Amino acid sequence: MKILVIGAGPAGLIFANQLKKSQPGWDISIVEKNTPDEVLGWGVVLPGRPPHHPANPLSYIDEPERLHPQFLEEFKLVHNNQPNLMSTGVTLCGAERRGLVHALRAKCVAAGIPISYETPPASKEELEAEYDLVVVANGLNYKTLELPPALAPHVDFGSNKYMWYGTTQLFDQMNLVFRSSDHGIFVGHSYKYSDKMSTFVVECSEQTFARAELEARPERDAAAYVAKVFQAELGGHELISQPGQGWRNFMTLSHDLAYDGKFVLIGDALQTGHFSIGHGTTMAVVVALLLAKTLNTDAGVPAALENFNARAVPLVQLFKEHANSSRLWFETVGERIALSNEELTASFDARRKDLPPLQDALMASLGYALGR
Ligand SMILES: Cc1cc2nc3c(=O)[nH]c(=O)nc-3n(C[C@H](O)[C@H](O)[C@H](O)COP(=O)(O)OP(=O)(O)OC[C@H]3O[C@@H](n4cnc5c(N)ncnc54)[C@H](O)[C@@H]3O)c2cc1C
Repeated sequence: MKILVIGAGPAGLIFANQLKKSQPGWDISIVEKNTPDEVLGWGVVLPGRPPHHPANPLSYIDEPERLHPQFLEEFKLVHNNQPNLMSTGVTLCGAERRGLVHALRAKCVAAGIPISYETPPASKEELEAEYDLVVVANGLNYKTLELPPALAPHVDFGSNKYMWYGTTQLFDQMNLVFRSSDHGIFVGHSYKYSDKMSTFVVECSEQTFARAELEARPERDAAAYVAKVFQAELGGHELISQPGQGWRNFMTLSHDLAYDGKFVLIGDALQTGHFSIGHGTTMAVVVALLLAKTLNTDAGVPAALENFNARAVPLVQLFKEHANSSRLWFETVGERIALSNEELTASFDARRKDLPPLQDALMASLGYALGR
């Protein structure tokens, strides 16, 4: 069996590594568009404590403590400059994306899975001719590949503008700050992800973005402007942007079908979900493990992919509903900004309450994928 994985992010790496364990004789390789050094994004929040939580990708690397993950058990919502401190109810784990991706890549290479960097995309026909299976794990970069028409995504852009910053200010809790300024409302999502750095994602409406003239400002000025809005939280620490990471509208990419012919989608390539629910990497892990499990069958690849599709699509659709409810809540926050701190907290907590719990669906899929 000859398998190509396109994209060396968490989804592709965990899939390749997990499948190689159960099928050491299969020829699995990975191609990555970028150089080894280019990994977008700062830190992400993951579930539980590695190595014990199977949905936490740090559980799949050697010595996860070398990344200095930060365990978070409190949530702080700040509104009207008043903090509201709560328990998260579960342990969350802030982790550096770059370190995680590098450690997962090292694991793959050690397992005999080669990774080729800066590899230009092959055509659909070339891929079909050379491989028994092509696992598309290229994140939300759907325009970078030629895929069967049945795998064309639905694409939808959120109305808010967001920017993913890093900062040396260490936030001990999951922090959610609502701040009204002369130009409009800004929302900051922050938490520490190593002993030196925190993630700081900021979002605002298009109108606020335009009034603050953030588009026209050079990147450093824009970062300084936002740092001033959140100076009470940042305490003089800067907001740092990555090259190539400008202000964006969140792109929700989704599919009704996870495979067609020899091509199968996993991770963000199958379904993205708004950062405000913090589950994108967790979903990437669970769906990658599901595909690795379903391919371990004597029934053949088409039957395996059909089984994968039947299990993955309902899960990612539920994820999409949760993520969209959360995204819409943030996009309409202006309607609730006059609420008290307690009322806003209650509204925030309730934003996904009418949906079946995502956690239960994730755990059920994980249980199947790991044979538990
Ligand atoms: C602001 C923000 C905050 C987030 N916070 C969190 C969080 O707190 N918790 C969480 O769980 N998730 C979070 N996420 C989501 C998370 O980053 C993604 O869900 C996760 O990275 C998906 O993994 P992936 O492997 O599918 O895709 P990616 O990590 O995007 O990896 C895809 C890889 O494919 C490569 N590639 C692209 N095109 C090609 C090509 N044609 N050929 C070869 N390679 C290619 C890319 O270079 C990349 O290395 C956040 C996302 C955003 C935008």
